[in-house]
Amino acid sequence: MSVLERFLRYVTVDTRADESSDTSPSTPGQLVLQRVLAAELDAIGLTDVVLDDHGYLMATVPASVAGDLPTIGFLAHVDTSPEMDGANVKPILHPAWDGRDIVLPDDATAVLRAAEDSALAACIGYDIVTASGTTLLGADDKAGVAIVVAAAEYLVAHPEIPHGPIRLGFTPDEEIGRGADRFDVARFGAQCAYTLDGGRAGELEYESFSADVIRVTFHGFNTHPGYARGTMVNAIKAAARFVDRLPREELSPETTDGYDGYVHPYQIDASVDRTSVRVLLRDFVTATLRDQQALVERLAGEVAAETGTRVEFEVKEQYRNMREVLDRHPLVVERAREAIRRVGLEPIEKPIRGGTDGSRLSFMGLPTPNLFAGEHNFHSRLEWTSRQELELGVRTVVELARLWGT
Ligand SMILES: [Zn+2]
Repeated sequence: MSVLERFLRYVTVDTRADESSDTSPSTPGQLVLQRVLAAELDAIGLTDVVLDDHGYLMATVPASVAGDLPTIGFLAHVDTSPEMDGANVKPILHPAWDGRDIVLPDDATAVLRAAEDSALAACIGYDIVTASGTTLLGADDKAGVAIVVAAAEYLVAHPEIPHGPIRLGFTPDEEIGRGADRFDVARFGAQCAYTLDGGRAGELEYESFSADVIRVTFHGFNTHPGYARGTMVNAIKAAARFVDRLPREELSPETTDGYDGYVHPYQIDASVDRTSVRVLLRDFVTATLRDQQALVERLAGEVAAETGTRVEFEVKEQYRNMREVLDRHPLVVERAREAIRRVGLEPIEKPIRGGTDGSRLSFMGLPTPNLFAGEHNFHSRLEWTSRQELELGVRTVVELARLWGT
């Protein structure tokens, strides 16, 4: 079965993650796809195919040569974003796309235009895959899933390619930040791994944000507003004043890109008595998070003093820049570069302005950069991928296996 055929089948399973769920995986659809994949991996001839109680699927491509070679891993996540409908996805193939606008049939306002999408413009002549206009496509990350399965099938069918033991991992709930939560690094047993969860062909990502979240809670005093003179202290007004004082021209998502970090208020729970503002802290340099935290605490403290509220802070670590780990294992990234070159592409290296499962896995002892999988416009009705990029992904994985096998 080709990588495209696999992809077209996987996207029809609804695997939308659900942040409000306490189970792992967060939704039953993810288990449905994991069972399909487990059966396929068995059929291909992989060993140790195990789907665990939390919805993590692992398997092994046995080494094709004897000797003491390092075990490497390839990872992809089976869930899709909670931000967009993922049920009844109808993938549409646009063979040898000629560059004209692609109007999605179920919603005429959903149009892909080469002029508005440079990655798409670079794919004229490719076999483009889109959804039908009302759902996401799920290339994030079923493109990665299809690439990993197809590459495993290729390696099993071509024992003349020298490679060591290769572990495959299919994880749930990446989109809600839980993909690494129950990932058993010891059981996976690889020296390093690669997530297949990136964009255009050639992309290689090994730097991510370091991330904390701080909850700023203002405590006021509530009383009947008709008789509140001199006694009411409104925590909502304090929180509003605090948010208004956060930086605008710098340190905000709206005004930064590249290597600039930000401080981002993204959720408020409000009442007169008590109002909490959740603020994301993001920077590529972990130590800078302390400066951002100090800034937030200073601004909120000033507002509390002015408004007669009491303010409390709670900081939670989210993830750290994977580069701090990967710099200690330069071969992991270097071999990815080499594999990308071997399939005829020039590596495109850029920082991830977010985190991946690899950010956390790297700090759990599994150095894990991210490779392209041909994902474009993810979490959107305009999501697309292409057969050619999927195939380049498969070839890159095969080349990586070969590089670690010599
Ligand atoms: Zn993803």
